[in-house]
Amino acid sequence: MSKIIASAAIRGARKIYDQAEKKWREAMDKWGANEPVGFPNTAYYLPVIYGILGEKVERLGDMEKILRRCQSLLPPPVKEEHPLPYLAPALDAGMATFFAEELIEAIRYLEQPDFYLRGEDIGDGNIWLGAANDIILRKRGIEFVDGTAPGFAAVLGAAPTNEIAVKIAQELQQKNIYVFMAADYNGKKFSEQLVEAGVQIGWPTRLVSFGPDVSSTVFAMGFATRAALSFGGIEPGEHRKVLIYNKDRIFAFALPLGYVTDEWYANAAGAINFGFPTIADTPIPQVLPTGITTYEHVISNIPHDDIVAKAIETRGLKVAVTELPIPVAFGPAFEGERVRGEDIYLEAGGGRTPMVEWVTSRRMDEVEDGKIEVIGPEVTDIQAGTQLPLSIAVEVAGRNMQEDYEPILERQLHHLINYAQGLMHIGQRDIAWLRVSKQAVEKGFKLSHIGTILHTKLHQDFGRIFDKLQVKLYTEEVKVKKTVEKAKAVYTARDTRIEGMTDETTDIYYSCTLCQSFAPSHVCVISPERTGLCGSYNWMDCKAAYEINPTGPNQPVPKGDTVDAKLGQWQGVNEFVIKTSRGKIDHYNFYSLINDPMTTCGCCECIAAILPLCNGIMTVNREYMEETPCGMKFTTLAGTIGGGISTPGFVGHGKYNITQRKFITGDGGLIRIVWMPKMLKEEIAERLKTRAEEMGVPDLLDMIADETIGVTEETILPFLQEKGHPALTMESLLG
Ligand code: SF4
Ligand code: ZN
Repeated sequence: MSKIIASAAIRGARKIYDQAEKKWREAMDKWGANEPVGFPNTAYYLPVIYGILGEKVERLGDMEKILRRCQSLLPPPVKEEHPLPYLAPALDAGMATFFAEELIEAIRYLEQPDFYLRGEDIGDGNIWLGAANDIILRKRGIEFVDGTAPGFAAVLGAAPTNEIAVKIAQELQQKNIYVFMAADYNGKKFSEQLVEAGVQIGWPTRLVSFGPDVSSTVFAMGFATRAALSFGGIEPGEHRKVLIYNKDRIFAFALPLGYVTDEWYANAAGAINFGFPTIADTPIPQVLPTGITTYEHVISNIPHDDIVAKAIETRGLKVAVTELPIPVAFGPAFEGERVRGEDIYLEAGGGRTPMVEWVTSRRMDEVEDGKIEVIGPEVTDIQAGTQLPLSIAVEVAGRNMQEDYEPILERQLHHLINYAQGLMHIGQRDIAWLRVSKQAVEKGFKLSHIGTILHTKLHQDFGRIFDKLQVKLYTEEVKVKKTVEKAKAVYTARDTRIEGMTDETTDIYYSCTLCQSFAPSHVCVISPERTGLCGSYNWMDCKAAYEINPTGPNQPVPKGDTVDAKLGQWQGVNEFVIKTSRGKIDHYNFYSLINDPMTTCGCCECIAAILPLCNGIMTVNREYMEETPCGMKFTTLAGTIGGGISTPGFVGHGKYNITQRKFITGDGGLIRIVWMPKMLKEEIAERLKTRAEEMGVPDLLDMIADETIGVTEETILPFLQEKGHPALTMESLLG
């Protein structure tokens, strides 16, 4: 490493350390050592410190130890006669920088609780998002797992002009890369430049404005560290593993824009520990490969036109960008973008006009591949602000096409249409809702381009199951209403088919090992009556996915002999689980959480846990962030059992699974549930009532306690007694 960089990084680290220490002393005087500190809604404490050192910083007093660790890591300032090498001390200084920055930011959360927002979106007058909570981590982290997001760029400072900022951001977005923004250059901030230029920022568009200071860079590192802990199943404190995980799996890099200060150098040095290189637009000294990493650490003086390409090349990222003949940008980064009031050019559905989406199979001779028809007014025939009825009928044909694939293809419409910049799509089937923005129309977007998107992308991803595809877009009310009628009959038929399937009616289940890249021993086996715990895959989906991609993560699992019908255990499944967990797990039960439950990974929608005092079971969904009667919040539960292991007494499951007939039948079934957050009760109320009626307890929903009754076993028990909850008279849970 160059001496100039090393000395600057060490100077910067010392400055940041001094600032942390000063802030800590002031805070101690004001609040005392017992004052709780931390980032909001996370089970990972101050994540870099927790991941690298294994230390939980929960109170102000805990920070003292960390400050001492920083001191021991901080090398003395580089002297003129100081001998080589410089790399190791600079890397240590970089690590100390992150620890100190986490302390600074944690104290800020204490001093100014409203400085940072709490959700995914920016607000009016405040654009600083601060540390990502565990819900965001999970939701976004999974995109790093399945490859929809290959990595992130940590942008520091600001571009010379707003136009250049927009260009860089959009280039990164189109490559599906998250943009994490911090610090300022000459008082200007990259995130503010984007806002000024009218770009939507926030987690949904992957343009994440962490904070205004250089210390907010540490939120990016905290995200990376938690990805390693949460998805990689790495234990806190296994610092080498955390760093190697990041180097190998998270394709990230730093993009300092503007004059590189000592503090920036300190952060860049810290990032090198994680395998993240720095690509600068200013002429700072370069740091070339040293044997620790295979690529350059610091590359400088790169023109803004080339900076994204250079960063991607340096980090060795392979980004597949689809060429689509449409006039707007396209990619997952545009999925979360919204189209609001005065920006709407065309609107369809959403209760304003009828709208329907439908994928249907036709005979080979009825489909002309690539034919796209707009029947009725096109965008070019209407004025801004128009509402139109709309039906999107996708007609496919092919030797391998089956009726069962229709819903799988249909489900793609939502995100594919949403991926187009300037389009907003909500819902599906006959409750779909579409908005096309003025900006998109200005660029030349027309309804027929929806056809282009669907034809190109569905062919690309599902070409194996059909040969030809055509799209008909109707915008005339009579025609739309006709399609709605036809489609509705099909929807009903589909639903009854899936609902009618039971685990007994099939000899084949399907595996999903998608999460193994992050939780190596985790194996989901999905049966008709037990959907995947992430809520994204049911048996039908897995079956279709297997037929589409026979070597993919969804494999058929023959059930084989029944080991235990009540608990849901089969010989064939066990054999499969032993093999695919590489011997870590040798059996599990589908229908029980008391007895050797299925493995749980961190993406579960809900976690169920036993409540011994109430002789019942509770479940909590990810969105509910408060305490629960089992004594743990969702994040703590997920952190404890979510590493791909089987934990008796707890199990992760999907929301839909709660109302599937086999839900925890080994432990008494749905009528064992004594507590659920109110929001979850409301979300599944209708289906829950139906199931409860089937089980002979029509009032079950009213008997299930929620947080308005209490969040401890003691406080909900009298309520359950008063309501006569069936769990109280059931067989003892603990046997
Ligand atoms: Fe992960 Fe299981 Fe969902 Fe597959 S089904 S994505 S393995 S949680
Ligand atoms: Zn998972």
